[in-house]
Amino acid sequence: MELPDRALELHSQAVVVDAHCDTIHLLIDSHGRYNFKQRNCIGHLDLPRLRQGGVDVQLFALCVAGHKTGCGALKHALVLLEAFHRMAEDNREDLTLIADGAGLTDSVANGKIAALLTIEGGEPLEGRVELLHIMHRLGVRGFSLTWNDRNLLADGVGVGEKAGGLTEFGRQVLRDVNRLGMIVDAAHLSRRAFFELLDASISPVIVSHANAAAVSNHRRNLDDAQIKALRDQGGVVGLTFYPPFVTGRNEACLEDLMEHFCYIAQCFGVEVLGLGSDYDGIPGTVTGLEDVSSLPLLTASLLERGFSEKEIKMILGGNFLRVFSRSLG
Ligand SMILES: [Zn+2]
Repeated sequence: MELPDRALELHSQAVVVDAHCDTIHLLIDSHGRYNFKQRNCIGHLDLPRLRQGGVDVQLFALCVAGHKTGCGALKHALVLLEAFHRMAEDNREDLTLIADGAGLTDSVANGKIAALLTIEGGEPLEGRVELLHIMHRLGVRGFSLTWNDRNLLADGVGVGEKAGGLTEFGRQVLRDVNRLGMIVDAAHLSRRAFFELLDASISPVIVSHANAAAVSNHRRNLDDAQIKALRDQGGVVGLTFYPPFVTGRNEACLEDLMEHFCYIAQCFGVEVLGLGSDYDGIPGTVTGLEDVSSLPLLTASLLERGFSEKEIKMILGGNFLRVFSRSLG
């Protein structure tokens, strides 16, 4: 697709936020084949491609899926954390690790890439809320309670029809996530845990990566009642680029993804929409959005679909910034 000047200009003016990537694991798993500073032929995301994609704020997840409590989840999270901090130090001219709302505003104003560290799944806490506080001291500012499985905090969406909600420990952790000024992420939660989290959280909730179940009926997508509740609570969902979530098949094009944007905008309003690519966490991506450098194409597509410039700025990052500044304080 040829990029019209109007799309390029709008994309570069907008604050672009991507609410989820799993890139950190490449820092330890690639056997030296990946270097964040350079353009890589593996992975979806690195510094040159983030710049080309016009990204201002990137959430980086510490994902420990598969490492259950007692099987090294904490150790694995700490190893990922150390790799991330080294990478951030090596790239400090371009990348700022964000600790609070003021830091986020400064980073965006100075043209740096703001990095927000998040934990995907509460396994590294190993049942101790003190470890949440340590993670916070180590720079973590976003938290999702589960991956797809059940853990000590809540049931994930993979538990199935009879899944439960939040545990007492999950509620205790959530209170401290709120108190510490961390971003609350409901991605991967079971339906019941999702609604209990929305009820209990005192700050607006994000769903960092999911799509609309009414458009593509995947268990990881949100149904209408969930999207409505999220919007009413002041939250935002980052629409994600994984073809099975977009179309239910192993391939999807940009037009297919646009169906999710249009459906949610029409039924629930633009204020609940954002981006959550899941780059480097997915084996395949939407055709046209092969890596993060292609994000300006998304802006061109939104323009083509008749979204106004104001609406597009909200979708690209304005909505997430609204939530982040409230959560981070
Ligand atoms: Zn995920």
